[in-house]
Amino acid sequence: MGLVCERSAPFQVTASTAQDTRRARWLPSEPVISAAERREKLKTVFEEARGCTRCALHQTRTQVVFGSGNADADLMFVGEAPGANEDLQGLPFVGQAGKLLSKLLVEIGTARDEVFICNTLKCRPPNNRDPHPEEIDACSQYLHRQVQLIAPTVICTLGNFATKLLRGDPTGISRLHGQAEVRTIGLRAVRLYPLYHPAAALYTPTTLELLRADFQRIPALLALGEPPQPAFEAAQEEEVPEPAADHPEGVAGPCEPDQLNLF
Ligand code: URA
Repeated sequence: MGLVCERSAPFQVTASTAQDTRRARWLPSEPVISAAERREKLKTVFEEARGCTRCALHQTRTQVVFGSGNADADLMFVGEAPGANEDLQGLPFVGQAGKLLSKLLVEIGTARDEVFICNTLKCRPPNNRDPHPEEIDACSQYLHRQVQLIAPTVICTLGNFATKLLRGDPTGISRLHGQAEVRTIGLRAVRLYPLYHPAAALYTPTTLELLRADFQRIPALLALGEPPQPAFEAAQEEEVPEPAADHPEGVAGPCEPDQLNLF
């Protein structure tokens, strides 16, 4: 077992509640996992990701940006990739786009510490270039495991990269934004809700208007509750990826202070 520091992860989990019974399945022998157990497993995935060398981005990153927020969130956001600020701080969406995201969350009556925010890529592409397909491939197992463990009801994909990955389809965001659909991601059926990326809305008022209008529909989407989950037998056949053998846990060393006790 690798190093898993107490309070090392940039996410929190609310106390276990009755919600646990409607939450994630993990192994067939372990049909329901409590929020606290899921948080512990998420910390293990975080530790693994911190030592990840699955693609060339590990050579240029300052640190892995795993995600932050509530590890038991109903609402999850998936952006593109860390930028310079995120790479330095180890937290997603801390620049201008992140400020807009925080503002839009407040406008719908929630906050960053109530949702979970992460990216398609966990490491910064040099000079903020677009993610490469092989990087997305290499990194997608972390996102899938995050979805499985956080078990959100609604996933908002921010921009093209997250939307195309989680829909498994090349249709672009301008055709899809604001249209929720039920999609199964790994073992988990969620309401997938594509949105424009906040960075695209920063300097384009019409995009901001569309993003804000789409955001306003999130509470109603959450109120629908989780969609019917796939049959358990079918889910058993679709295994969640195991940790890769070439990525030993605990290689990342002690926890950085800036990733302690965020919320
Ligand atoms: N910051 C992030 O963390 N992700 C993005 O996609 C953009 C900015």
